[in-house]
Amino acid sequence: MKITDIRFGMLRVPLKTPFKTALRTVEQVEDVVVTIHTDTGHIGYGEAPATAVITGDTHGSIIEAIQKYIAPRILGQDIANLNRITQLIQNALEKNSSAKAAVEIAVYDLFGQLYDAPLYKMLGGGDPVVTTDITISVDYIDKMVADSVKAVERGFESLKIKVGKDIGIDLERIKAIYAAVEDRALLRLDVNQGWTAKQAVYALQSLEDAGVRLELVEQPVKAQDLEGLKFVTERVHTPIMADESVFGPTQVIELIRMRAADIINIKLMKTGGISNAIYIADIAGMYQVECMIGCMLETSISVAAAVHVAVAKANVITKIDLDGPSLCAFNPVDGGVIFNESEISITDAPGLGIREIRGLEPIAS
Ligand code: MG
Repeated sequence: MKITDIRFGMLRVPLKTPFKTALRTVEQVEDVVVTIHTDTGHIGYGEAPATAVITGDTHGSIIEAIQKYIAPRILGQDIANLNRITQLIQNALEKNSSAKAAVEIAVYDLFGQLYDAPLYKMLGGGDPVVTTDITISVDYIDKMVADSVKAVERGFESLKIKVGKDIGIDLERIKAIYAAVEDRALLRLDVNQGWTAKQAVYALQSLEDAGVRLELVEQPVKAQDLEGLKFVTERVHTPIMADESVFGPTQVIELIRMRAADIINIKLMKTGGISNAIYIADIAGMYQVECMIGCMLETSISVAAAVHVAVAKANVITKIDLDGPSLCAFNPVDGGVIFNESEISITDAPGLGIREIRGLEPIAS
C-alpha cells in the first residue's frame, strides 16, 4: 500500500450554538480535510481546523505546509513503514502542528486499513467506549446556567465551562452554574489564559472557601507563563491542567519537571498528530500524571482519531473532552466512531472506518 496522491477539501458545518471563549467566537466549523490516496485504492482521511490564536495554523498555511513540504517527502512511501513516515512528517518543517496532524491521522487511518483492524487495536487495544464532557460557552450568567442545565438533561455528566472574561463575573458564573447542577455533573473550568496568576489564586481560593468543588481548572494563565502556572498549582487544592502551555513531548517533560500543572491536555492539533500524542501519554504515565484528550473545533474525522488514541491509552488519558461532533448541527461523516451525545463508541471497521463525508468541497491542488 503506497501513497500515490494527497488531496484537499473544505468541510463546513454550522454549530448548534456559537462557540465562545475568552479568545474568540466561532459560528461554524470550517476545516481542511486531507485525503491520502494509495496504489491499492484505499483512502486515508485526516482533518485540521484553522486555530490561528492557539497553534498559529490557518487554512492557507495548512494546505501549503502539506503541499510544499510534507507531501513531497511521503509520496511513494509504503504505509507499512509507519514509524518512518511519521518521522518524515514531523521533520518536514518546524511548527505547523495542525498540518502535520491532518496528514498523520490519514496515514494512521491507512495503517489500520492495511491490517484490516480498527486503529485503537493497532495502538494496543482497549475498551472501545468513552464518555465525553461538553463545552458551555462563555456568555451572560442566565444563558450559561440554562445551557448547563440543558446539557445535563442531554445526559452529560461533565461540563466544561468557559470563563476568563472578567474575574468578578466569572466567579458569579461559576457559583450560579454550580448551584444549578451541583449533584448532577462535574465541572471543569477552562479559563483559556484569561487570568493572571494572582487572579487565578484569588478566584480559586475563594471558590474553594465557598464550597464550590471543581474537577479541574484549565489554563488559567497565559500560554508562555509556565512560572505563573506553577504559582497557581502550588497554591490551590483544585487540580490545574495545562492546555495552550504544552504542545509537544519536550514541553511536557519540562512541565512535569517543573511541577507546573497536575494534568496535561493532549490535542492532536497541538502535538502534530498521533505519534507525539502517544509519546506524551507514555511520558505522563511514567510520572503518574493524568491526561485529558481534547480537540479544537473539529468534526468526527480528526476527533475519531483522538477517540482511538484515548481508548488505547485509557490508563493515562482519564478525561475526555471530545465534544466537537456534538457541537455541530449535523454529523457530515459516515464512519466507524459513533458519537451519541456523551457516549462515544468505536465499531470494528478498519482504520478510522470512514465511509463517506457529505458536503466536502474539493480544493484544487
Ligand atoms: Mg482549553
